[in-house]
Parts: sequence; structure tokens; C-alpha cells
Amino acid sequence: MKQRKASSFFLYFAPACRQAGSLFYIYVLPWLTKHSKKNFYMKKSLLFASAIVCSIIGIAQTPTPQGTNLNRNNGDPKLTEYWAPEPKLVSPGKTSSDAPSDAIVLFDGSNFDKWKSSRSGDIKWKLENGAMVVQGGTGNIQTKDGFGDCQLHIEWRTPAEVKGDGQGRGNSGIFFMGRYELQVLDNYNNKTYVNGQAASIYKQLPPLVNACRPPGEWQTYDVIFTAPRFYENGTVKTQARITVLHNGVLVQNDGVLLGGTQYIGVSNYEKHNEKEPIILQDHGNPTAFRNIWIRPL
Ligand code: MG
Repeated sequence: MKQRKASSFFLYFAPACRQAGSLFYIYVLPWLTKHSKKNFYMKKSLLFASAIVCSIIGIAQTPTPQGTNLNRNNGDPKLTEYWAPEPKLVSPGKTSSDAPSDAIVLFDGSNFDKWKSSRSGDIKWKLENGAMVVQGGTGNIQTKDGFGDCQLHIEWRTPAEVKGDGQGRGNSGIFFMGRYELQVLDNYNNKTYVNGQAASIYKQLPPLVNACRPPGEWQTYDVIFTAPRFYENGTVKTQARITVLHNGVLVQNDGVLLGGTQYIGVSNYEKHNEKEPIILQDHGNPTAFRNIWIRPL
């Protein structure tokens, strides 16, 4: 409807304004000038009137970005097309779990080259059959590089042998920017507080549904994460946002984070760098990860 109104304005009003402007300058302005030579205030009024007429003509002569004939019934469809810049080419993987051509592979099962321990010293987690396995008590690991806005694919598996319950079963986590945890947990027939179950943003956003597979099976997270923005003085400009597919099921839909995830107390934001490492959590359970890739956005 707005498009149609804009079209009508520029089709009919603009030419009328141009015509009126021409008549004003050819006939009206000379006549007024001739009959007001001795009247100072009349001259000032004429200048003011001229300025208004010029403004109207200027607006009337400003084209819309797409042209003037945008009528949906008999307009030109080409006026609403644009051809550049073209999106760059990306070759997708064979399946949606395989890294596309522009992704950074963070873990392909062969080594920890893109990772380091969050403590001093080497990573103590194990490499087993193309997966990295948490070794309880050895500490978190984190990417060597920092990331902000990103698309992340990661696969995880909680232990086939079920031990413990609640938060003690297959617990790990993926901390975006080192502080915003997407929970990893075995919640297949395992109750816990809903804002701490698998696919929750820990203690903030429960998942929309529980899409867990049984323990011992590989599961996927596909995540779109938008980093928070801060003003110079440290206050929040925009909050972090997250969308998550768990095993292909939407579980977080552009959720807004309240700040860094906390075990105790309320969340809040503290200004940090535009890029920070991704951390994988050692929560004492031998949860495994494989096939991790990321596309900075
Ligand atoms: Mg956790």
C-alpha cells in the first residue's frame, strides 16, 4: 500500500508542482516585483514565498530509489530488481553436518591443534575414535582463536553407561565468548530444572522442546550466535542472541541472553572483547565431542 501511495505521489503530484513552479516564476514573480519596488516588506515576503516554492519543486523532483513507475498492476518489474553485490559462492558439505567450503574446522577428530587448555599446560582430554572426550578434573578447553557472531556446528555424545542423575549425567557445555553457556546434558528420561537442561542457555532460557537422543548416541547442535555490543563506557548497546537446532529441531529461536550465564545469582553483562574463545566444559563427566566447525559471520 505504501508503495502504491508513493507511486501515485510521484506520478501526479510531482509534475503538477513543476508546472506550478514554472508559472510562478514566468508570470507571478515578475508582476509582484514590478508592483512592489517601493515596499521593503513585500520584497521580504516575495523572497520567503520563493524559498517555499523552490523547496516544493525540489521535493517533487527527487526520484524514488527504484524509479517512479512502481504501480503493481502496470508497472515495470525490473524497477524492483538489483543485481549487485552478488553473494559470494560457498560450496555446501555433502550433508548439513559437513563443513561448507568457507568454514573453519575446529576439530576433525585428528588433533587439538585449534584448542588449548583453559589451565596452564597441555590438554588432558583424550582423543578416541575421532572424538575428544572430557577427562574429569583436567579442566575446560578453549579455542586458541576468538569468535564473535558465528554459525557453529558441533556434535556431542553423553556416556552410554548411565551414571548419576539431574545435572550429574553427561554434563558439559559450550560457552560462546567464554561466558554464555549452551548446556550439554543427558536429558533423555532425566529431569532437572528446565532452564538447566540440554539445549538451555544455562539458568536463562529453557529449550522450546526436549529433542534429546538416548545416551551413547551422537547428537548435533547447529547454532547461530550474535555477540552482544557494548558502548565505550561498558553499558550494553545490544544483548547477545542465539538460535539453536538440536538434532535438527528448533530449540532456541532468536533467544535474548540476559548476560553471562551464572551458576548462582542473576546474570548480567560485563564488557568484553568483540571476539572471545569458545570454551568446552569439564563438568566431571566423560562426554565426547566431534566434527566441530564454525563460520564467523
Ligand atoms: Mg554444563
